[in-house]
Amino acid sequence: MNFSLSEDQEMMVAAARRMSQERIEPVLRQHPIDKPLPKSAMLEIYAVLAELGITAPRVPVEAGGGGLKMLDYGMMIEQLPPVVALSLISHEGTISRIHAGCPKDIRERYLPDLIAGRKIACTANTEAGAGSDSGAVRTRLKVDGEHAFVTGSKMWITNASVADVINVSCTLGNDDNGRPIARRVLMDRSECEFEVRETPVMGLQQGHLSEVVFEGTRVPVGHMIGEAGDAAKTLTMAWNGNRPLLGLMCVHLAQKAFDLALAHAKAHKQFGKLIAAHQLVQQDLADVETLIVTARLLCYSALDAIDRGVRANGSSAMAKRYATQACERAIQLAMQVHGGMGISQELGIERMWRDARMFQVPDGMNGILALIQGRELVGIGAFR
Ligand SMILES: Cc1cc2nc3c(=O)[nH]c(=O)nc-3n(C[C@H](O)[C@H](O)[C@H](O)COP(=O)(O)OP(=O)(O)OC[C@H]3O[C@@H](n4cnc5c(N)ncnc54)[C@H](O)[C@@H]3O)c2cc1C
Repeated sequence: MNFSLSEDQEMMVAAARRMSQERIEPVLRQHPIDKPLPKSAMLEIYAVLAELGITAPRVPVEAGGGGLKMLDYGMMIEQLPPVVALSLISHEGTISRIHAGCPKDIRERYLPDLIAGRKIACTANTEAGAGSDSGAVRTRLKVDGEHAFVTGSKMWITNASVADVINVSCTLGNDDNGRPIARRVLMDRSECEFEVRETPVMGLQQGHLSEVVFEGTRVPVGHMIGEAGDAAKTLTMAWNGNRPLLGLMCVHLAQKAFDLALAHAKAHKQFGKLIAAHQLVQQDLADVETLIVTARLLCYSALDAIDRGVRANGSSAMAKRYATQACERAIQLAMQVHGGMGISQELGIERMWRDARMFQVPDGMNGILALIQGRELVGIGAFR
């Protein structure tokens, strides 16, 4: 085991941090902090992500992707502003699905622009009754000749309002046992009619989270992705990779809050001495650092397990559940070290706390993640 980064990893992390600070954060600062970014700003950011080679990290180099190891990708994700990183996960996850499940003509038509960051993609699975129970999708797909028609609605879809292509999970009738057959279709925003409504939320407010409504939306049958019924396996593989990545987005926020708290404790005085010299403040700082380091290591370890081909259902669920909770706690303690300033909008830690809280929902709520880990431990599913 080696806990130090290789030379290549040092370079990748440094490049991601530099590009983030010099080219991505300035775009975020040019726009209101509490409004979804305009598409033009998103495309500016995606051009930088493409330059960094992380718009298709899970697609092999021969197919035009980054061919990155998940651990290396995770360390780069950790350097990005979380609102950008979450958008990227939705985009690149959709690219992976197109690459793995679409015919050649569709891959050739869409992948070059998506990988170059000239177009944006997303995946819509969640519905009002199909959140944690992702197999309960009710959006219907009806095939008629050369076209299929989609009817239903999706909620909480990252990127939907700025996406050029959207991968929509649907059901296509029932199998012999009466169970719904899951199918996914790729919709081109410029050719398909559907309604997208932005949903205001507490955090990551420069991002895009929307409801999408399909009323018999027409799609060419050639736009169906993968084989009938393979959606569950594909989703599990995507989630296993995504969960530690979301954990690392929280680590990014907690690290920022910690850096501010440490600097503040060394500069601010109460009772005639620096607050850093008070034992309880030192304990808060020690606790914050411990929460961040453990969260980071669990996420790295889960990503490394995926790279080694080890079954990671439990470890990736554990990493996300721990990291999202630990980082929320870490940010709260960092706020506490700041006293009144901690809750001021001017400082921005309260925004980090709201942003971090968002990550406890997508790709597995904490209760669900505990059940996934529990199932790995005892071999019995306790979902139903
Ligand atoms: C920032 C963000 C980005 C998102 N991006 C996307 C996206 O791009 N695409 C997409 O399709 N979706 C996306 N989502 C949706 C997200 O995946 C769902 O919100 C999530 O799966 C939870 O579903 P739900 O909201 O229906 O809650 P529910 O599943 O209804 O959960 C409500 C509560 O019930 C608990 N619960 C549910 N079932 C059980 C059980 N069996 N045992 C014990 N407890 C249980 C849960 O833990 C939770 O506490 C996103 C959400 C957020 C917040």
